Parts: sequence; C-alpha cells; structure tokens
Amino acid sequence: MVVVGGGVAGLVAARDLAASGRDVLLLEGSPELGGKLRSAEVAGLTVDVGAEAMLARRPEGIDLARELGVEVVHPTAATSGLWSRGALRDLPRSLMGVPFDLDQLAASGVLSAEGVARAAAEAASEPGDDVSVGDLVGARLGDEIVDRLVEPLLGGVYAGHARHISAAAAVPQLLAMARRGSLLEQASAVPASVAPVFAALPGGMGRLPGLLRDGGGFEVRTSATVRALRRTRSGWALTVGPTTHPETVEAAAVVLATPAAPTARLLGVDVPDAAAELAAIGAASVAVVSLAFRTEDLPDALFERSGFLVPPVEQRTIKASTFSFAKWAWVRDLDPGVVVLRTSLGRHGEEATLQAGDEGLVRVSLADLSAMAGITARPVDSHVQRWGGALPQYAVGHLDRVARIRAAVDGQPGLAVCGAAYDGVGIPAVIGSARRAVASVTRAE
Ligand SMILES: Cc1cc2nc3c(=O)[nH]c(=O)nc-3n(C[C@H](O)[C@H](O)[C@H](O)COP(=O)(O)OP(=O)(O)OC[C@H]3O[C@@H](n4cnc5c(N)ncnc54)[C@H](O)[C@@H]3O)c2cc1C
Repeated sequence: MVVVGGGVAGLVAARDLAASGRDVLLLEGSPELGGKLRSAEVAGLTVDVGAEAMLARRPEGIDLARELGVEVVHPTAATSGLWSRGALRDLPRSLMGVPFDLDQLAASGVLSAEGVARAAAEAASEPGDDVSVGDLVGARLGDEIVDRLVEPLLGGVYAGHARHISAAAAVPQLLAMARRGSLLEQASAVPASVAPVFAALPGGMGRLPGLLRDGGGFEVRTSATVRALRRTRSGWALTVGPTTHPETVEAAAVVLATPAAPTARLLGVDVPDAAAELAAIGAASVAVVSLAFRTEDLPDALFERSGFLVPPVEQRTIKASTFSFAKWAWVRDLDPGVVVLRTSLGRHGEEATLQAGDEGLVRVSLADLSAMAGITARPVDSHVQRWGGALPQYAVGHLDRVARIRAAVDGQPGLAVCGAAYDGVGIPAVIGSARRAVASVTRAE
C-alpha cells in the first residue's frame, strides 16, 4: 500500500496500516516528514514553528501520545489576552465568541458599552442548515462581537474570515445551540471546567513526526513528490519524482494524505468529481515569526500572559502572538536567560501581508509587539517560517462538499483520502480523518 503525504495524517495512516501487517510505503514530497508539524532553532533553542498544541478535549491526540508512550503536558496558568479598543485586555471565556458570562465580557472592555448591550439583547434568528459563524453570531448578538471576538478566535484557528467559515463544519455545537434556542442562556449554563483545554508534547509538537516514524514498520521516501495517479487493472500507478526522472510505483491501494490542491491534481483523471470539489476548497497562507529576547529585557507583566489575539478591525499586521515562554514550562526551562515568543501573520485573501521579506516580517512583528505589549527590546535571534496555502478554508456548505468527495472516492476500490481538508484542521481531527481513511481502504480489500 502507498500513503502519499508525510504530515500527521499520512504518518498516522501509514503507521496504522503497517500495524495491521501490510507492506506500506510513504511518499513525502518535501525533504522532511511532518508537514505543518516542524521544529526549528532560535537562539540555539529548539521550538515549534508550526502547530504547537492540540485540543485535549478530543481524545485522538492524547490517545495517540499514549499509544506512542509519550507524556503530554498542558499550558501553564498564564491567561490569554486580546488587543481591543486600544488596550491589551483579558480574553473573556466564550464558545467561539458567545460569552459564558456577560458581566465578564463587559468587565473585559473588549466591546464598547453599546456592543455589550447589543450582545445582551439577543435577537431571534433561525440558522438554517448551515450559515457562517459570523452571520450566526452577528444575527443573534450583533456585529461588534463578531468583529472583536469571533474574528480573532476563528482567525487563530483557520486564518479565515468569520463571515465565510461554516458554522456546521467549524463550530457545530454553536449551530446546535442556535437551533435549540438562546445562545446566551445555553452558554451561561455551561459548567466551568477545570480540565485542560490544550495539550502538547514536552519539547514540542515537532517531535510527533519522528515518534510516528520510529518503529512504525513502514518504509519512507522523502523528496518523492507524487505527480500523477492512474487507475490500473490491479490497483493504482503513481508517477513519482522529478519530471526529468519520473518513476512509476504500483500499489494495490493508495491513501492520499495531501492538502486539497495536490489531492485535486492527483484525482483529476480518474475521480474528476472529487477533484473539482477539492479544487474549490480555498487555503490561507500564514507565517510564524519566532523571536528570542533576553529574559531581563521583557516586562514582568508579560510572564502572566500566554499571548494575545488581534481582531482584524484593529488593522494591525500581526493577528496573534503566543508567549511560548509563559505558556509552556518546557519552553521556559530551555534556557532561563532567554525567552522565545512567536507572532502569526496572514489571513485568507490577505497574502499581501506576507509579501515582505523575512526581515520585513520581523520588523512589523516588533512594531506591533511594541505598540500592543510594550516589548521594545531588540531580539537576540529570529526565525521566519512561511506556510503557503496551509490552512484549508471551510466555507459554508463544507460538510456537504466533503460528503460528495467521500462518495466519489469511496466509489474507487483501494482509494481513500484524509488530512486537514476534511473533518477539521486541528491535529486530533486530522488523526481522526486518517483513521477513518484506513478503515475505509482496508474494508474494501
Ligand atoms: C502555522 C500553523 C499553526 C498551527 N497550529 C496548530 C495548533 O497549534 N494545533 C492544531 O491542532 N493544529 C494547528 N495547525 C493545523 C495543523 O497543524 C494541520 O492542520 C495539520 O498538521 C495538517 O496535517 P496534514 O497531515 O493533513 O497535512 P500537512 O501537514 O499539510 O501534510 C501534508 C504533506 O503532504 C506533502 N505533499 C503535498 N503534496 C504532495 C505530493 N504531491 N506528493 C507527496 N507529498 C506531498 C506535503 O509536503 C506535506 O508534508 C496549525 C497549522 C499551521 C499552518
């Protein structure tokens, strides 16, 4: 069997297929495994420059760590912030912007008094089958809460726009609540939980690809881009490698664990309906700028914050900063004399932000950190990681689109798809999609 793509989806699929006794070859186009899970060195310290956490409230990530025999760690008690209306404020607790506690929302100062009053006067609205998260919350609680709370929260996960992202795909709980009745009433009844929301591996999520590969019992080829896929009498033929030296690999079954755009190209000939649907899924490009400072150069107050989000309405360049040194004890412990934080930039359709060179991205990050967090020191080192077309955009109707893709792919024996384009972009959801693909491709044998 062949798995195409060596991100977390492909690695999990390859490992599970090999564990069930099959011969598995994983083909990864880039020189390195891991996809959006990657570590790099800043000031000699190894930190994540891609994904840095996974949701702990879904089981797949934690269960996988347990299977691999590694412990998980949780963020410190440092609290998240939000830059709004000229100040860095506490991020009010909410379900994707729907506040659990209106008094806490008002006290945070994130919204104007009128914005809070509008949110408190929840309007009636019927959400229908699917609607954007922004339109759903906006119709009930007003535009200001969308602009200042929903946008930055969704922007942090999808690098997308609240008025485009599907509520059914991205926040199904919210849609279910809207169908049942008042969002505010139901949100206020959500019990405060002490269970940690996020988890990570000590040393970073960038360790996960190596852990999945080691002892996984499957063969890996990197720098092996799959350029074409064709059905044969007995299975599939993959064209691999540079156009000047193409090679054909035959396989009885194939799992495509690649992002939507390359998957669309690979399915173009034999599964054109799925290819057309996949080609219609947009993707946002983002960049992560990691900055290292001398510990004594940072204001003490920042050590109690895990970072902050920035709503697009504020018209700054960065959309978030994660104070990794305050959020993760393992980062803090790397070197007591050095602190590492990161900024993220780039939203769907706003690629111009990323057209600056690396020095330019560092410069705008520093300017925003100075204005919003009072960090005026020069960094001792920096690292810029660009992620082109990295985050699939779940537009309204995404779930139906995915159902159509799966119906077309399932009609092809020995073929399955998985990864961030389908059931969620977070690591646990991606692991879930890989396990679903393995079940589908082995069921048909
Ligand atoms: C900056 C950033 C931060 C994030 N932070 C978090 C976070 O904190 N928590 C979280 O849960 N999620 C986070 N995410 C999302 C999450 O990391 C991704 O959704 C997930 O890792 C995607 O895994 P994947 O295997 O589906 O795809 P990818 O990681 O994209 O892997 C796909 C692989 O396929 C390869 N490939 C593509 N085309 C071909 C081809 N033709 N032939 C061979 N190989 C090919 C690529 O090189 C790549 O290695 C973040 C994403 C980004 C970009």
